[in-house]
Amino acid sequence: MTTLNPNHSTRAKMSSARIRDLKPSELPEVVMPACEVRPVLKGQTAIVTGASSGIGKGIAVALCAAGANVVINYIGNAAAAEETAHEATHCGCENRGEAVPVMADVSDESQVQGMFAQAIKKFGTVDIVINNAGLQQDAPLEEMTLAQWRKVIDVNLTGQFLCAREAVREFKRRGIREDVSCAAGKIVCISSVHEVIPWAGHVNYAASKGGIMMMMKSIAQEVAPWRIRVNSICPGAIRTPINRSAWETPEAYASLMKLIPYKRIGEPQDIARLAVWLCSDEADYITGASLFVDGGMTLYPGFETGG
Ligand code: NAD
Repeated sequence: MTTLNPNHSTRAKMSSARIRDLKPSELPEVVMPACEVRPVLKGQTAIVTGASSGIGKGIAVALCAAGANVVINYIGNAAAAEETAHEATHCGCENRGEAVPVMADVSDESQVQGMFAQAIKKFGTVDIVINNAGLQQDAPLEEMTLAQWRKVIDVNLTGQFLCAREAVREFKRRGIREDVSCAAGKIVCISSVHEVIPWAGHVNYAASKGGIMMMMKSIAQEVAPWRIRVNSICPGAIRTPINRSAWETPEAYASLMKLIPYKRIGEPQDIARLAVWLCSDEADYITGASLFVDGGMTLYPGFETGG
């Protein structure tokens, strides 16, 4: 079975001390046990970019468990994409969809168009796009090369534009399929808390995520009359390869916790559960929204004791 629900039983083992007073080694583990997954996306097809690792992998597995056929987009690591597809199709959920890996660089226009063509050939159409692929190339401003700036903007922002444009073309061409969804299509942009929190030493990354916010809202406004919904999920710190140095050692984890009032790192499933719900008709009236999943990182944690 797939693992999509937090297990709150760990609460019982905790003392009455506030979580923030515990040492990192004393923090309770968040266990994500098996749960009944409703097939809210049955009959729909999703493309998840950058789905061979981290958040994209978690979302791909969850969408598949909820019944969607899923294109596992990847660049470079074909074995990891196969592993995601295997995990997605062996989740134990009765109504799960199919999963197929498709290689494409999201910053390359013709490769994105080729990926959509492959998805449509295999599954007939596309109903959901999760714009997840992203990377960091960090440097202090005066040392950041133009190549580093361009690479991050090309993948994180232009890649999302290219995939959103192909998605809208397909959604408008096909229109609403009332048997699977009351919307003609759904786009979810994986942004970041850094669409609102400035980030010294990461000016290219923060600019790309700030750009996603206005791109997402502008597209949402433009396509809403066609019943196409466009939203962003803004993760805080999630345990994935992109930020390994921020959680791998106890010292790094303790330092990270100063930024998170809820006192735990996020897991890919925290994002995946919202992605499934956001793509379902249960979220039908939500468009143009940035939804933060960050354990309170955007609550100005420094003001908990200061100010
Ligand atoms: P990750 O490194 O595991 O995932 C990023 C994925 O994007 C990788 O699989 C990578 O191969 C893929 N990718 C990179 N360039 C690509 C390209 N040109 N074409 C196609 N795929 C490409 O890290 P992650 O944390 O899972 O990141 C996923 C998204 O979540 C990113 O957009 C990231 O900015 C965002 N995010 C992550 C965190 C976090 O704390 N992990 C927080 C906020 C936002």
